Amino acid sequence: MTLGKRVSAFYEEKCDLCGLCFNKCPVMKLPLNIAKEEVQNLIEGKESKHVLYKCDSCLSCNWYCPQGANPYNLVLEGWNRLYKKRGAPPLYCLVCPTEDKNIWQLLNVFLSKQEKKWISDWVNYVPQPNDEVLLIGNYTHLLPFIVGGTKLFKSFKPIDRIDQWEAGAYPYQLGYLDLVQKIAQRTKRDFDGWGVKTVMHTLDAVYHVFTEVHPKEMGVTHEQKFLNVHDWLLEKINKNEIKLPNKLDLTVTVHDNCYSKAGGGKFWDPPREILKKCGCEIIEMKHIRENSLCCGFGSGCSWKTNMQLPFDMIATASKKFKEAEATGAKALISYCGGCIYLLWAAKELMGSKIDLYHIIEVVRLSIGEKIPYPRAHMSRAWDLIAIITYGLVMTMFKKSFYIKRITYDKEMSKFKPRLFPLLRIIRLLFRVSLIRTIYKKMFPMLMKIIKK
Ligand code: SF4
Ligand code: SF4
Repeated sequence: MTLGKRVSAFYEEKCDLCGLCFNKCPVMKLPLNIAKEEVQNLIEGKESKHVLYKCDSCLSCNWYCPQGANPYNLVLEGWNRLYKKRGAPPLYCLVCPTEDKNIWQLLNVFLSKQEKKWISDWVNYVPQPNDEVLLIGNYTHLLPFIVGGTKLFKSFKPIDRIDQWEAGAYPYQLGYLDLVQKIAQRTKRDFDGWGVKTVMHTLDAVYHVFTEVHPKEMGVTHEQKFLNVHDWLLEKINKNEIKLPNKLDLTVTVHDNCYSKAGGGKFWDPPREILKKCGCEIIEMKHIRENSLCCGFGSGCSWKTNMQLPFDMIATASKKFKEAEATGAKALISYCGGCIYLLWAAKELMGSKIDLYHIIEVVRLSIGEKIPYPRAHMSRAWDLIAIITYGLVMTMFKKSFYIKRITYDKEMSKFKPRLFPLLRIIRLLFRVSLIRTIYKKMFPMLMKIIKK
């Protein structure tokens, strides 16, 4: 395998230190003099007072830079340095497939029989050279009912490899750039080993990482053809190969995920076109496209303490719900499987009344399929809230850690549920409506106390 060097996508030679990136940043809105100072410090690899501890990893600043210098990538380089110095917060073990008690392993305790069957098929199938593969990915794995059983993707072979880490998309957003390079190399070995030629993923983020980040920043070029799921769906709908007999007559508002801001804006329109074809009327939120606010996931990138992480993430998500509710739309639509699990957890904790769908669920309703909405989402949201609560308790006295390996061993790859008694007790308690109500009431108070 020919591998190049990792290169930064921040173009220092273009930057004139104007500070507009962090001054216009919708999260920090730093005064211009401080913004300039922060840019200078980050370029020189010095300590940052604001950006590395408050940034939501939303990618907007790349749009605000008049010089096209990619300041977002300057932030990522800063976090990469910070990770080398201090490691990752203990709670991140939840999203590391190679760490014990990760979210996928813990979720096995709660998966339904049908979900286990889907996942087992996806995990164990070894692709053949003529297969067109659909990568399920780490976050859609958490909500397998979104794609499980649909006829939409029947021409693809669904594959689920948790230790492909969504091609490195979320470690990239955390700034763990050296790790992403290893993941890029690993995915190349997988694809070339399988001999497959066509790969599709349900996330724009992963499509972007395979087609742009791996070759241009990680020195890893793939031979495969990558399909973007929304382009693919739209093309099939336009050619009448996917028919939409059920027009939904639904007012919706659309959440643009952070990664949708990569790729020069090409990811924004196809999901909206698809929604219109399904009979949705779109009412836009205040912050959309290049100005869109993070779902909450990115807030976890700039941590100060372990305890702060989930509260920051839900606080950010609640801003999104406020904007979505202000539109008066009946439903909020996410076209990213990475955002939707977090948004659902926030919706349950904040008690938001707006409906929340993944775009694939909207298409499925429109082609006439039945989906387990909202039951499956509500129940999974509390599974995940239980897992995060359990994770917080288990990591309370642990130290930061370094990710030592990217590929899990045979035992972990079996995804066999273990006992995890405390986790089961927490989930059992969440079945009691009074306990859920108390937890929901406590959460905003704790959010105010444990502020970033
Ligand atoms: S990525 Fe988003 S939150 Fe972070 S500095 Fe840029 S605009 Fe601000
Ligand atoms: S990265 Fe762009 S916006 Fe930020 S200081 Fe440099 S030139 Fe200005």
